[in-house]
Amino acid sequence: MRFDSFLVLLRDFLFPPLCFSCNEKLSDQGTRLCLSCWNSIERVGDVDRTVEVLRKRFRESGVIDEFTSCYYFEHDGVLQKIVHSLKYQAITVFGRELGQHLGKEIAARGNFTDVNAVIPVPLHKLKRRERGYNQSEFISKGIAKELNVPVFPSLIRRKKNTVSQTRLNVEEREKNVEDAFEIPKTMLPVVAGKIFLLVDDVITTGATIQSIARVLKNAGAKKIYVASAALAKLE
Ligand SMILES: [Zn+2]
Repeated sequence: MRFDSFLVLLRDFLFPPLCFSCNEKLSDQGTRLCLSCWNSIERVGDVDRTVEVLRKRFRESGVIDEFTSCYYFEHDGVLQKIVHSLKYQAITVFGRELGQHLGKEIAARGNFTDVNAVIPVPLHKLKRRERGYNQSEFISKGIAKELNVPVFPSLIRRKKNTVSQTRLNVEEREKNVEDAFEIPKTMLPVVAGKIFLLVDDVITTGATIQSIARVLKNAGAKKIYVASAALAKLE
């Protein structure tokens, strides 16, 4: 046995890992959340209102060909705790786990089998430097592993450091992210004729993702699919 795996065993013996949300002892070492907490998060159905509204909006945008999501984002719910810890406390294992769940869901539905690469929604370089990582990149890695395709984190650049969108409505959000993204010139030949899966942690109105999809389509991408770990439920 390697010394570092021995240390992990010793640590887990002395301090058994507990579920991040309910503090129950964890049986699976690869996770920070117990199965019953994962199962308590509301799943996104295939034909509910929020999905229908977003599908329609995306279809009308003409730049997004298909869309899927895994969980509903509830205020003060388990998922909000996970997403916040992923974003602000660097508990990046949740990014990979969300990605795996989403990837398995996509694989089970038989969706997106023709994808060439996965693209995480990029952060502005200042925000990325401040946080040290891009949470959507971790989710993308989990999905890419399930779909067996590469992740292209540098294909799209966020050139505008946009203001927080939490208080903006649909139109204001669209205005806010207009012209916020670009493809570096050296990357343009990679885009033409390809099918990409854009990945975000939480989708609210879809304005950001539409803005990115438009840039990719304008550069000659063949199809753009969208997947998010979570979805804000419409009232
Ligand atoms: Zn739990």
